[in-house]
Amino acid sequence: MVDLQQQYRKIKPEMDAAIQAVIDSAAFVKGAQVEQFARNLENYIGSRHVIPVANGTEALQIALMALGLRPGDEVITPTFTFIATAEVVALLGLTPVVVDVEWGTMNMSVEAVKRAITPKTKAIVPVHLFGQCAEMEPLLALAKEHHLYVVEDTAQAIGAQYTFSDGHTAQAGTMGNIGCTSFFPSKNLGCYGDGGALFTNDDTLAEAIRTIANHGMKVRYHHDMVGVNSRLDTIQAAVLDTKLPHLDEYIAARQRAAAYYDRAFAGCSKILTPERSQNSTHVYHQYTLRITGTDRNKVREALTAAGVPAMIYYPIPLHLQKAYQDPRYKAGDFPVAEQLAASVLSLPMHTELDDEQLAYITEHVLRAVEA
Ligand SMILES: *Cc1c(COP(=O)(O)O)cnc(C)c1O
Repeated sequence: MVDLQQQYRKIKPEMDAAIQAVIDSAAFVKGAQVEQFARNLENYIGSRHVIPVANGTEALQIALMALGLRPGDEVITPTFTFIATAEVVALLGLTPVVVDVEWGTMNMSVEAVKRAITPKTKAIVPVHLFGQCAEMEPLLALAKEHHLYVVEDTAQAIGAQYTFSDGHTAQAGTMGNIGCTSFFPSKNLGCYGDGGALFTNDDTLAEAIRTIANHGMKVRYHHDMVGVNSRLDTIQAAVLDTKLPHLDEYIAARQRAAAYYDRAFAGCSKILTPERSQNSTHVYHQYTLRITGTDRNKVREALTAAGVPAMIYYPIPLHLQKAYQDPRYKAGDFPVAEQLAASVLSLPMHTELDDEQLAYITEHVLRAVEA
């Protein structure tokens, strides 16, 4: 699905030097590279504050803690996504409220969010799924109208750009109160282990986030609030700071591979290629097809047999997960998410796909859907 070895080989001298410098300094925690990377990422995404943490899931947890949400508060999130969002909501004793997604973009349905708002709703957590922004303009308007916080999960969409109706643009993760991202190795900006970050333009929230991520401590051994220990290691910061100048090339390489896939599948009625959102660029964390009129699982098996990896993101929506069973929800409640879970198929997508590989993959996908 990804080829991180080839990507590393292309930047090996600079990467090795950056990692060696951390080892030489022995500042493995809170080394200068952490702040340096945070400042560079602030410039790249256009956010006042970037606060690095240990991983993307903790970024989401810290975001909800910084907003001061209390047990019983409702947080709205899409049911078709990775588990992290609902997980941290549940861990904090908040109430996850899941909503359906759009069949085309697979992102959170604004209409569904509108219907899910109650007097207990405190926040909306849109996930910019697979690499393009959810419909932020109407979501932000809805949030404003109902005095709700917006926490963007941009783990899959760093670098995606959203255009508002007045023509101004903003990067994924910089539009809500807080943006959360992950630097898991396979993410579009990935480190060589775990990492994550929070983005905010709000100075007060930034201070709360920094404090919570550091044991609730501003002055050493004075704990003002209950916090966590969540840090980005210096080595990971050095890795990320080395890769950040390449992020635009990496995105372009993914978009090139996606365009190849789009062209190859254009004439095939059994394959629906990813629909582009009108207002967002797509950075293709995943290239996710919807298979119609044939058995998706058989297609996947045929691809596996031909040596083409293909993954199902995500096979079970949140409301049907065992750990999240809830009398409020049952099978059939979120038909789009359930239909997507039964029909999506993600193809290999990374920065190193060449035409020969793409030709092989597309030929076998076309063969598998017609079999
Ligand atoms: C990867 C991911 C996360 C979690 O990131 P980790 O760094 O693995 O904790 C959260 N949300 C989404 C949508 C993700 O894809």
